[in-house]
Amino acid sequence: MARYHGNVCRLCRREGHKLFLKGVRCESEKCAVDRRNVPPGMNIRSRPRRLSDYGVHLREKQKVKRIYGVMERQFKRYFTMADRMKGNTGENLLQILERRLDNVVDAGGLSLSRPHARQLICHGHFAVNGRKVDIASYMVRVGDVITVREHDKSKALLKDIVEMAGDKEAPKWFEADRASATITIVALPTREELRFQDIQEQFIVELCSK
Ligand code: SF4
Repeated sequence: MARYHGNVCRLCRREGHKLFLKGVRCESEKCAVDRRNVPPGMNIRSRPRRLSDYGVHLREKQKVKRIYGVMERQFKRYFTMADRMKGNTGENLLQILERRLDNVVDAGGLSLSRPHARQLICHGHFAVNGRKVDIASYMVRVGDVITVREHDKSKALLKDIVEMAGDKEAPKWFEADRASATITIVALPTREELRFQDIQEQFIVELCSK
């Protein structure tokens, strides 16, 4: 699956928000948004552009894609899926994104950042219900149990990562036991439980429904 390989701090500066793509660095004084929050490539003295309605809607979509590390084609697939589900399409879309395995591993404190979670999954360090899963977009279901695989290498690697990641408060829709590196999904995420509360999902629905 394609993914962005460039400088991720540029993405945050483009959106004008911290997207937390670099783990502990995002909380430190080295964060590019904290130091210089202007769009990349822009002269620091020039005035920020005023966005059209379309521009505002587009930026919201790009922001969400970047937070969850999803490219356009997969995002469109998620939107179609959300549109076919019962209920609010915007909330369905965010729920689908939140249920991605890389998001769950990161939110459970078993990685340093979401891109790092994706890498650990792709390298085969995690199992779901006892079976190896190396697909970062795997969508978790209620009752799924995510564990670190039994390999000595995986266990040792994750022990170091859990120590480095520090304490993260896990969302209420799953139980994370960091001592045994186990996450159990107990419910589906609701809108109030998302880590990024400032997303305007109705803008994305308006844009993608055109
Ligand atoms: Fe974004 Fe983190 Fe880079 Fe700050 S340090 S600009 S939050 S990726």
